[in-house]
Amino acid sequence: MLPEASPLWLLRLLRDIQLAQFYRPILEELNVTRPEHFDFVRPEDLDNIGMGRPAQRRLAEALKRYRSGVKSKNWVYKILGGFAPEQKEIAPRSESLLCLHEPEGGLKCLIPEGAVCRGELLGSGCFGVVHRGLWTLPSGQSIPVAVKSLRVGPEGPMGTELGDFLREVSVMMKLEHPHVLRLHGLVLGQPLQMVMELAPLGSLHARLTAPAPTPPLPLALLCLFLRQLAGAMAYLGSRGLVHRDLATRNLLLASARTIKVADFGLVRPLGGARGRYVMGGPRPIPYAWCAPESLRQGAFSSASDVWMFGVTLWEMFSGGEEPWAGVPPYLILQRLEKDRARLPRPPLCSRALYSLALRCWAPHPADRPSFSNLEGLLQEAWLSEGRCVREVTEPGALRMEPGDPITIIEGSSYSHSPDTTTWKGQNGRTFKVGNFPASAVTLPDLGASPATCPAHGGSPARGDRFRGSIDGDREKTKFQDLPLARGQRRQVPLQRTKGISKSLESVLSLGPRPTGGGSSPPELRHTRAMPQGLPDLPPRPPFISSSSQPIQPHKARPPCPKREPLHNHRTGVPGASKATVPSGGPLSDPEWQRKIIEVELSVHGVTHQECQVALRTTGGDVASAIRNLKVDQLFHLSNRSRADCRRILEYHQWDLSAASRYILARS
Ligand code: AMP
Repeated sequence: MLPEASPLWLLRLLRDIQLAQFYRPILEELNVTRPEHFDFVRPEDLDNIGMGRPAQRRLAEALKRYRSGVKSKNWVYKILGGFAPEQKEIAPRSESLLCLHEPEGGLKCLIPEGAVCRGELLGSGCFGVVHRGLWTLPSGQSIPVAVKSLRVGPEGPMGTELGDFLREVSVMMKLEHPHVLRLHGLVLGQPLQMVMELAPLGSLHARLTAPAPTPPLPLALLCLFLRQLAGAMAYLGSRGLVHRDLATRNLLLASARTIKVADFGLVRPLGGARGRYVMGGPRPIPYAWCAPESLRQGAFSSASDVWMFGVTLWEMFSGGEEPWAGVPPYLILQRLEKDRARLPRPPLCSRALYSLALRCWAPHPADRPSFSNLEGLLQEAWLSEGRCVREVTEPGALRMEPGDPITIIEGSSYSHSPDTTTWKGQNGRTFKVGNFPASAVTLPDLGASPATCPAHGGSPARGDRFRGSIDGDREKTKFQDLPLARGQRRQVPLQRTKGISKSLESVLSLGPRPTGGGSSPPELRHTRAMPQGLPDLPPRPPFISSSSQPIQPHKARPPCPKREPLHNHRTGVPGASKATVPSGGPLSDPEWQRKIIEVELSVHGVTHQECQVALRTTGGDVASAIRNLKVDQLFHLSNRSRADCRRILEYHQWDLSAASRYILARS
């Protein structure tokens, strides 16, 4: 491992000006480890290490830029906030890994390709497959890890996938929390690989839906998971981040009693006075998990993460059911807003926990609790643990034997005689759920903290309609409506549909179904037309394509189980524009806006301004602007000439990722 003052900055700086060969001499002969050390370096010193005067001038210029904070335009550098792939080129002699960052005790490294060997496939997401792996440290010690590799199709990864992948790395690099999945480092190989902490028990969703003989998860454990999740999310919020994809599929089991939040591909920084992130164009989002403001305006915030927390809670207590299953995505917003519908209380969910979920689903973001509040609210809604003191064998009652641990789902302190009071709970030995006489169970301390005392036997949560005995079996879920303004109530049976993507619904896919009922696979949804102005529908969210043409699926992309292919710039264009665009001239022209966004979506990492300039240069020709920007990107990434970059890009059919990989492999 490099010493803490590892002068990676020097390596990058020299690499940017093609003087990387002087890294060692500068470091070892001139003893320069910090930028200010150059103040003491004379031209003769540089002469002595063989650096010519023109090179010295380049170095002086680069130092000036470095000191004035001008960063490299290298796009990987931009995304990852400070490191570029050049480390592969000049590895320090005796070290096999480079420390990138050591935030708050977390060691984040560039890991040499040879130090990681991949094993069995653990799962696959939209832009990567995840394998179990073994990482051999320089000390020779090997640790089990999970290795996420950027998926490479025949045409290489899409720029957006690469961007999301690198964004996930850059976000994870900076996080350190007991319930946030840890990133060990990045392998700058082919494909790019993230080396992460292994969660040996897989995703919580897989565990919730595991068939028999795997027993269901104890309800008390689900409560513990909720508290861990709230803590992790409060931490993310405190780091100014919004997760945007909170769901049981993205919670991993690091141990039987520990979950970790994972999948940071959709994480974004919260910006502005309102602490929100607003999507700038059509991107896949997990529709059924989203808050109304996210569906309507593409607005995400900690409060929208709280909404998702409520849906995740619902998933946990409904055994991994799909929220809003059978409801077409374009109707979900209508159900939430117009009908004021909410997901129903799962039978295994206590009223107190359900009312907490309802608070997470408050229509106005400001009315939802914060994650820090949720930690306290969960404590109040905590399910009590009791112990069986006598055998229960009555017909219809939850069977139990003395000594069985019993989790109380619904109960109250003995307001009547304990002999006549009925409680509902889960037997921790058999995992069955049902009603039982309160007298059969003792609680450790009735007057104690909520963790040991059933505190929620009182008023049922608003809209609660599910009662009665469930012994192992689960009731079918139904829609649960909040009271309507007109005093109406509705109940729409939910159909559990198989084979539907449980995860990310593309906002491009929100057209009504030509045939009723059920969702359909993403690839089908992409081909549907989206007629305008449907009666009874809320206005379309502004970030949905308003094109009335069918949206074609991307040609050569592999099917994506979690996220759908992103916007295809050839066929559809988002309606959203960025607030930063000055008015006047062509900039206020919607067609010009459309072009800018088209370019922006097609070239990863470019700024709005760069797109404008590129378009002006090409007289508004989108294709040429995209190509020129890609040439620029490659030029800044590599030490090739622009002409070379253009040729390489042409050879790779303008696939920037493939061209970058080609160059990286040869640098
Ligand atoms: P992702 O691309 O992050 O959505 O991951 C896809 C799937 O791979 C997940 O649903 C998990 O089943 C599995 N997976 C991802 N990361 C890990 C990990 N660190 N440990 C174990 N399994 C993982």
